[in-house]
Amino acid sequence: MAAARTALRSLPDFLQTAASRVMPVLRSLAHAAIDTVFPPACLNCRQSTGAAHSLCASCWAQVRFIERPFCERLGTPFAMDLGNDGLLSPEAVANPPVYNRARAVAHFEDGPVRQLVHRLKYNDRMELAKPLGAWMARAGNELLVEADLLVPVPLHRRRLAARRFNQAHALAQTISAQCGVPADPFVLARVKPTPSQVGLSRSQRALNLQGAFRVTDGMAPRIEGRAVVLIDDVMTSGATANAASRALLRVGAKSVDVLVFALAV
Ligand SMILES: [Zn+2]
Repeated sequence: MAAARTALRSLPDFLQTAASRVMPVLRSLAHAAIDTVFPPACLNCRQSTGAAHSLCASCWAQVRFIERPFCERLGTPFAMDLGNDGLLSPEAVANPPVYNRARAVAHFEDGPVRQLVHRLKYNDRMELAKPLGAWMARAGNELLVEADLLVPVPLHRRRLAARRFNQAHALAQTISAQCGVPADPFVLARVKPTPSQVGLSRSQRALNLQGAFRVTDGMAPRIEGRAVVLIDDVMTSGATANAASRALLRVGAKSVDVLVFALAV
């Protein structure tokens, strides 16, 4: 491109004008040709689709999006519409979370949602953070309009070194670009390496995560008095979100909400 621009500058004026008019046309023709040779593919199964950065009709039909009515605290959907705003689930009443509200795009279950999350996390398909983050920005709109700061749930430094990138941070960057709320991946640290939570009970998970997060030294003023939205890919028991929220509230966060891509209900 730089060589093309230099060549363009060395042309006489009338030719430069003509070339600068032709260049955008050539560029859009090139994009059209690319779309014909490589039509937009489904984010999940790679079948060709009508629109870029989306799912094909078959994958789309397998995603159970989470919509109202849901529990205002936990974000878990209700089986039927009880026609009452601000309703809480029995779980939220019996066992209130540390965070204020949680919102998610879809149910975490076998099929496209689990595959997309897995690919983002382990296959280094970092480009998935853009469409998934855009869906999260829409699902979490009511949290984001009141937010001062986005905080991705951090990985322990050993896990970050092994995996090379934190999917929660990548999602937070996309959401931040969409809604304009700054994201800060450095305010919160995971100070305790937590073994896999798979197969543990709710209380075992909570115990496992006790003291796992700490606000980084000197970062408390960035959190004090702020409405924080924690960002993660998946929420299962809520133990991680609760432990991270507790660390943020301890240094004076005004509120902590949680926004995830998928919620295991
Ligand atoms: Zn598909």
